[in-house]
Parts: sequence; C-alpha cells; structure tokens
Amino acid sequence: MEILKNPWPSPSLPHIDHQVPALRLHSTSGPFEILPGSEQRMYVCGITPYDATHLGHAATYLTFDLINRYTRLSGGSMHFVENITDIDEPLLVRAERDGSDWQSLAQKETDLFAADMAALRILAPEWFVPATQVMDLVDQAISAMEQNGFVYTLEGDFYFRTKELLADLPYPEAECLRIFGERGGDPERSGKEHPLDPVLWIANKEGEPGWQSSHGFGRPGWHIECAVISLRYLLGEDFLTGDSTRSSLIDIQGGGSDLIFPHHFMSAIQVKAITGAQFARAYVHSGMIGLDGEKMSKSKGNLVFVSKLLEEGVDPVIIRFALLRDHYASDRMWSQEILISATSDVARIRMALSRNEVAPTAAVVAEIITALSENLDTPKAMAAIFTWVDATESGLVGGSTGELARALDSALGLAF
Ligand code: ZN
Repeated sequence: MEILKNPWPSPSLPHIDHQVPALRLHSTSGPFEILPGSEQRMYVCGITPYDATHLGHAATYLTFDLINRYTRLSGGSMHFVENITDIDEPLLVRAERDGSDWQSLAQKETDLFAADMAALRILAPEWFVPATQVMDLVDQAISAMEQNGFVYTLEGDFYFRTKELLADLPYPEAECLRIFGERGGDPERSGKEHPLDPVLWIANKEGEPGWQSSHGFGRPGWHIECAVISLRYLLGEDFLTGDSTRSSLIDIQGGGSDLIFPHHFMSAIQVKAITGAQFARAYVHSGMIGLDGEKMSKSKGNLVFVSKLLEEGVDPVIIRFALLRDHYASDRMWSQEILISATSDVARIRMALSRNEVAPTAAVVAEIITALSENLDTPKAMAAIFTWVDATESGLVGGSTGELARALDSALGLAF
C-alpha cells in the first residue's frame, strides 16, 4: 500500500451565486463555527480494509464531504486527510479466516472503497495514508512521549500512561472500561498501570507481520497511528513539536460515533502527550446506520454494502440521496422501503428539473444553504427541495433549473 495524493477523481464544484454564511456545527465537543473563506484542517478516520464499504461508512464519509463542500463553497479551503488502518487485529483475523494474505486483502478492500467513494461523489482527501507507511513516524512519536514521561513497558509491549489525562472521559469510567474492552482495548491485562492505558507498540508475535523500530520488532497500536498521520499530513514535518501559537492543532477530527471512545479520546490525549497542545478544535461524529430495526454490525452479518447495491443497478445518486434524508448525527435505519421511496423521490426531482418552466429557484437555493449552515440540517434542505418540486408540478414558473441543479450538485453532491 502506498501513500496516495487525491486517491480518486473528485468532481468539481459548480459555482453558486449565493452568499454562504458561517457553518455552525454542534460537535461532540460543543458548538463551533467554520467562518466563510477560512482555511480548515480536517482529519477523518478511515477504514480498516476488510469490510468496505458498508452504508455506515458511506454515511460517515458523506457527513464530512458536506463539511468539505460547504467550506469550499464559502470561499475557504479544506486540508483533508484520511488514513487506512491497513494493519490491525481484525484485518489479520479476517485474512487468516479467509486463507488470504493480509496485504492483498487490504489492497483489494481499499481499491473497492475508493471506487465506492468516487461513485458516491465524495471529494477525495488530499492525502490518503496507510498506517504501514508511517512506522518511522510512530516510532519517533513514541520516543517523544517517552521523553515526556507517558510511556511504560510491559513484557516487551509499550503502553501509554493515561493517568493524568483521564479527567475528561466522555462517559462514566465503568462504561469507558466496558467500551474499551469491546473496541480493541485490553482493560483486563494484568501489570498495566491503569486498565484504560492503550498499547502504543505491540511486540511481534509468531506469524504476525512486524516492523523494525527503536522499540523493538513489532507493530503499532491503533490510536497512535491516527495521532501521527493527522499531525504529519496536516501540519508538516516538524509535527512532533506542535505549534504553540494555535489554540488547537487541527480544526476537526471526525468519524462515526463509535469512535468517540476510545479512539478519538485516546488519539487526542496522545497528541497532547507528544506536543503539549490541544489536538482538534472540534470532534464531529456521525450517527450509526441500522438495518430493518437492528444495529448493523459485522457480528450480526447484516451489513449492506455500497458495491453490492451498485452491482444490483442502484444509481449512486439514490444512495446518496437516501442517506442525506436524515440528519447526520442521528442513528438511523436502512431498509428496502427506504431505497424504494428514495428511488421514486429522485425520479420526481429529475422530472421537475427536466421541465422547461419551473418554480422560482433563488429562494430554494437560499433555503438549502441556510439549512446546511445550521448543523448540516439535510432534512430541512430536502423539505425545501420538495416544496419547490410541488410548486413546479402545480405550474408555478419563473425559476432557472440550472441555478438549482448547480446548487444541489455543489452543496449536496447530488448530480441529477
Ligand atoms: Zn482514526
């Protein structure tokens, strides 16, 4: 796997002739704003390439795509970096189960992910960075943390000392311990200074891949990978020192709400331990997608894949449309009925846009932009679109289909 710049073709954003106000987001860490015309740095946690791309992934990357598009439409710039966790326990387990090589599995799934993202018109990150390409940076970061007193060893493994940095746990400690155990942590391991301490460097086990480092032959823990990739690719080569002039190093760290703890919490405190600075200005999380009333999960085997829907002939604009109908932060359901109703709604919008005479469009464009500026309120934007469709169907005239089509494409990524 290689570090890729602009890993898939990004659609260009048609210009819209409309004032774009500040984007106000209610992040997990509180309200924050992206001012029009500003320069932003956003890091979104990428996939572990063994089950790409299910609808939960699609909804997550779509959320950050809206932020990216909005920032650009406001005249600003977005430095956007995404990682690929191409070395991790679940990837190794899956490769072993399927009798395949972990590297080919990772490559195959990453290629599939990129194709799905392009089909869904998600703007590509500036840098798409596999964890296996940053082993020397991880090594340097662990050494920096060691100098600052945040590292201890246990039977050849290196652990992060969380103790002083546990003050702002997102949930009660008992709950954090339970979640930590479920999501890659090892709270039960004896000999640790604190059960929530995450591993930084895992000594090589027979049969597992490993890398040479000043901390021995082994592989990194999960959180440290994102900490170093985000700093290096958003801040530059002197990433270990941080920048004390900034109140936070980057603007947004994003991902699904299942990353709030431990992943984003641990990445942030590790960045603090490396640089002494606050990591992100805001942590933004998208809700989870369920299927037919149940949580969608690998263990239940009920994941719905974007590539499968595309193979069945579903138009990608319908998938994008269906996912935008609900608010990004809400947990929501997917079902065949949702797909069917999105298909007929998209057909209705297309029909309205294909008329020679349409209802006035300037106001609906304004409503879409305003709705997005209010914490990406896509349900409100959708309601505005259907009010316009109703008005067009009832024979109102005076609008420009081009004006509305460009806005739907630029702001929502919906190219009808
Ligand atoms: Zn991450």
